Amino acid sequence: MTDIILLGPPGAGKGTQARRLVEDRGMVQLSTGDMLREARKSGTEMGRKVAAVMDSGGLVTDEIVIGLIEEKLRGATGAGFIFDGFPRTLAQADALGALLGRLGRRLDAVIEMRVDDAALVARISGRYSCPDCGAVYHDETRPTRVAGKCDDCGSENLVRRADDNAESLKTRLMEYYKKTAPLIGYYYHAGDLFSVDGLAAIDEVAGAIANILDQSRVA
Ligand code: ADP
Ligand code: ADP
Ligand code: ZN
Repeated sequence: MTDIILLGPPGAGKGTQARRLVEDRGMVQLSTGDMLREARKSGTEMGRKVAAVMDSGGLVTDEIVIGLIEEKLRGATGAGFIFDGFPRTLAQADALGALLGRLGRRLDAVIEMRVDDAALVARISGRYSCPDCGAVYHDETRPTRVAGKCDDCGSENLVRRADDNAESLKTRLMEYYKKTAPLIGYYYHAGDLFSVDGLAAIDEVAGAIANILDQSRVA
């Protein structure tokens, strides 16, 4: 069992690579962004609270996201976890360490995906996805084979995220550099940090991540 974090700014390719790892290695993707989007749809009080924050590009409170992860980990099985978009603050990183420790697990690798801001704007503005199966596409770099139709499940409900606009991205990047980028130093110090060039093609990034997992302690 191998538990890893994919760390990187919005649009770095975390979700895309997480999905590959699920397919190739049977790992379990835990995306707090996906969990929060589900919570919004459910119309609960928590869902209403997070909706406005997400649309503005700010971070949802640590209490809420840690609660969501805690709930998922409670029923944890043996397969390795991919934390995608979590942790995003030092408080979340501490909470994750404690939660994994309680389950007798530990992080095997924190993989930082490096992408510069100019590329992120292009990534985010071309992103669309399938709400039915979670597949992620891009107008230029990864279009569906048939326009308007999901390659994986055939759905024709492809959507663009409300927060994938220039204004919200500016806030999300600022949040990333202020609150999330410090985790790079945190995990470097812990000896868990690996970095990949997120600007490379999707298959190349997947290869670099596979190499890290095959060389890391437990994989
Ligand atoms: P991206 O794929 O662009 O990195 P996500 O889908 O991970 O974005 O997250 C979308 C939004 O959900 C974030 O802008 C933030 O408002 C909220 N969010 C997701 N994960 C977290 C987290 N770990 N802590 C706080 N807010 C989060
Ligand atoms: P994140 O989860 O980090 O926000 P995504 O996986 O959603 O990022 O990727 C953001 C956008 O960039 C998507 O439209 C995706 O298809 C595209 N993308 C992902 N990885 C690459 C890559 N290596 N090269 C080019 N485009 C990519
Ligand atoms: Zn689909």
